[in-house]
Amino acid sequence: MKQSVAHPLVIGGGPVGLVLALSLQQSGVPVTVLEAQQPGAMYGDGRALALSYGTRQVLEQLGVWDRLAAAVTAIAGIHVSQQKGLGRALLKASEHQLPALGYVVSYGALMQALDARLAESAAGIEVRYQVPVQHLHVDGAAAEVTFQSATAAEPEVLVTPLAVVADGGRSLEAIPGLIRDTKHYGHDALVGLVRTELPHRNIAYERFTPYGPMALLPNGEQFSLVWTGEQAYIDQISALDDAAFLQALHQAFGDRVGKFLHIGKRGRFPLKLSKLEQTFAAHCVVIGNAAQTMHPVAGQGFNVGIRDAMALAKNIAATAADQWGAAHRLSEYQQSRARDSGRGLLFTDFLVNVFSNDLVGVGLLRGAGLGALSLLPFARRFLVNKMSYGS
Ligand SMILES: Cc1cc2nc3c(=O)[nH]c(=O)nc-3n(C[C@H](O)[C@H](O)[C@H](O)COP(=O)(O)OP(=O)(O)OC[C@H]3O[C@@H](n4cnc5c(N)ncnc54)[C@H](O)[C@@H]3O)c2cc1C
Repeated sequence: MKQSVAHPLVIGGGPVGLVLALSLQQSGVPVTVLEAQQPGAMYGDGRALALSYGTRQVLEQLGVWDRLAAAVTAIAGIHVSQQKGLGRALLKASEHQLPALGYVVSYGALMQALDARLAESAAGIEVRYQVPVQHLHVDGAAAEVTFQSATAAEPEVLVTPLAVVADGGRSLEAIPGLIRDTKHYGHDALVGLVRTELPHRNIAYERFTPYGPMALLPNGEQFSLVWTGEQAYIDQISALDDAAFLQALHQAFGDRVGKFLHIGKRGRFPLKLSKLEQTFAAHCVVIGNAAQTMHPVAGQGFNVGIRDAMALAKNIAATAADQWGAAHRLSEYQQSRARDSGRGLLFTDFLVNVFSNDLVGVGLLRGAGLGALSLLPFARRFLVNKMSYGS
């Protein structure tokens, strides 16, 4: 069955796709979202996201923050250190006249808050669940999106002036005409909630080890752990029972938060850097993780994705409906985002390369780098801006 819609269609109802839909709603632009999974499927995803202060402001504007506030833990300071090294630095929100350097929330809680906001007012937004998109075809006239719903015998096709791909980059790998550049780190992230002997006092810890960066983010009464490293190394620590795991964690992390008392359910994610050289074709544009996937080392991925969504919503709202999908408008969108997304990719890749490297000399360099960070106000300001606004 083939049907035409006269408005934008979003492939993927993850956080970036839903933020785009809500922002379009505020501008009075109707939108359809096609989501592969069932409602609430991601509520159990315990991956912790560090949201920047800029992201908070966007979520406030969209009426989502109020629904999220109870699940959020503020980051008052970030402690950066390296294993087997002398350099360390403590960045404090109070030194930079900010209420917080960022906020920690689980992916699942963010999805619940977005859904709650949609449930209150979904005027102009149609979300269809359990409709995995199988194929995207674009030509000079329109985009054709093919998907299979559980209830229909045949695949359905929707023809739209603008298809927005926000599928996280996992399913529609080959988008006609767009070239993807991918670097597999060969690293995985192990995540889980840990309870420690000492309270977190709203401090986030970022620690660079020769195996890879690890982070402890304050989350409720506990910490969210993100422990990255080569897959073989993560295999080893994954295989440990809880007691041995907590001991290995203590060894890698040091004594700053006392003993590690409990680890919850452990999750695992493969890590890569992936970007599209061009993020649009006529009648199609790619945003969020589908456009750029980065290492979680500095908590940039969703923060960059939400800025994609807001910039695209602004572009669509300022474009006459008969020009939605016009290549020159999408090119303007891409130009508006190139600097921010490029910097996010460079910044995270730089941190992984310089700080997770055991070469003689590189260790000295990063020690010097952390030393400089604790001494030089401009270096601290750069990092604080990057973490809190992404600028
Ligand atoms: C361990 C880890 C820690 C992280 N920490 C941070 C952090 O601290 N801060 C931060 O900003 N970012 C962080 N990130 C990155 C963040 O998770 C992503 O940037 C963010 O989830 C991207 O959102 P998205 O909506 O683009 O994609 P996704 O979250 O991947 O959502 C994509 C959606 O599309 C749907 N979908 C997929 N294929 C199809 C299809 N064919 N048809 C229809 N729907 C489809 C999926 O079901 C999903 O709902 C982290 C990532 C990891 C792995």
